[in-house]
Amino acid sequence: MLIGVPKEIKNHEYRIGMTPAGVRELVTAGHQVIIERDGGTAIGLTNELYEAAGATIIDTAEEIFATAEMIVKVKEPQPNECKMLRSGQLLFTYLHLAPDPQQTKLLVESDAVAIAYETVTDNHAGLPLLAPMSEVAGRMAIQAGAHSLEKAQGGLGTLLGGVPGVAPAKVVVIGGGVVGINAARMAMGLGADVTILDRSLPRLKQLDEIYGPQLKTLYSNVESIEEEVVAADLVVGAVLIPGAAAPKLVTRDHLKKMKTGAVIVDVAIDQGGCFETSHATTHQDPIYIEEGVVHYCVANMPGGVARTSTFALTNATLPFILALANKGYQKALSDDPHLRNGLNVHRGKITYKAVADVLGYEY
Ligand code: NAD
Repeated sequence: MLIGVPKEIKNHEYRIGMTPAGVRELVTAGHQVIIERDGGTAIGLTNELYEAAGATIIDTAEEIFATAEMIVKVKEPQPNECKMLRSGQLLFTYLHLAPDPQQTKLLVESDAVAIAYETVTDNHAGLPLLAPMSEVAGRMAIQAGAHSLEKAQGGLGTLLGGVPGVAPAKVVVIGGGVVGINAARMAMGLGADVTILDRSLPRLKQLDEIYGPQLKTLYSNVESIEEEVVAADLVVGAVLIPGAAAPKLVTRDHLKKMKTGAVIVDVAIDQGGCFETSHATTHQDPIYIEEGVVHYCVANMPGGVARTSTFALTNATLPFILALANKGYQKALSDDPHLRNGLNVHRGKITYKAVADVLGYEY
């Protein structure tokens, strides 16, 4: 199969849909890969590296869309990309169609076959192509929080791990899923005093078994959240209720009782945020202060570490790309119900129920 990887064109998007290692894997399996010139240059994946792996470098996205049988990307196609898609062409990328009627309409009109990373499933009720970005965001939350605790950012001036003779900072993580556990791991690694709250007792039991007494686990309710947040130096918001906006678990009144210069990192901001006072920020201007508390609420945290995120994402996508290329999409989808769950648009029809329901398409 001829697989095409265009350069991402969304503002400040430096990730790319395939690494040179991915190219090598596909070429070894007998496929051809074309990469848009400078698609990975911003993160050190040069044209030469892609060529050495067996790819052909192509100057324009137009040529890639005009010839490739499968397009592999990171972000949802922008309107001009949707218009370049061809009838029957395969598109494999993040789509997030439910809140995006314009993109959905253009994909339907394109007559292409669009498989969304975010709805591919696995055997453990997880979302294997979303999890790598949650791992990145969780780990980054502590890096961002530690920086925000410095005086120059408006923080309390506290070092997460303390030093001999000085107690470490208190880190509270609300939500013990993929983001939460990765945040907790980083914070523990830096020597902080870490507590994680979740509503799922099996999850808390599992965390307790893995991490032992170094990680304090607490059942999440109004009372435990208030007690913990008020005493914290850094709070990470990492809850998710699938298919719903994040619940507002920390209120303005809680903030008034927090230490001046404490920090909150609201990773759940892409679902509306779990702090009443959160609003989305960008990597260019990531923090603001409300009630004396520093807020870091960047909605696309993985984009800030685009190189790591590219490797993390493509490690997870490559087996699916190989299956699609080796078998053709029809056999690959019928052989793997989890990949089939990723199919959102098929030749003019919406094939993902939640998207059809929200946007009023026939399913
Ligand atoms: P996950 O499903 O793995 O974990 C969510 C956890 O929240 C679950 O363990 C669940 O039991 C828990 N939870 C639900 N309600 C709770 C409550 N009231 N109190 C405590 N815990 C509660 O999800 P995840 O992959 O860890 O993602 C967490 C959030 O981070 C999501 O909103 C996701 O969209 C977001 N996210 C944001 C970025 C970003 O760049 N800002 C990147 C990746 C993920």
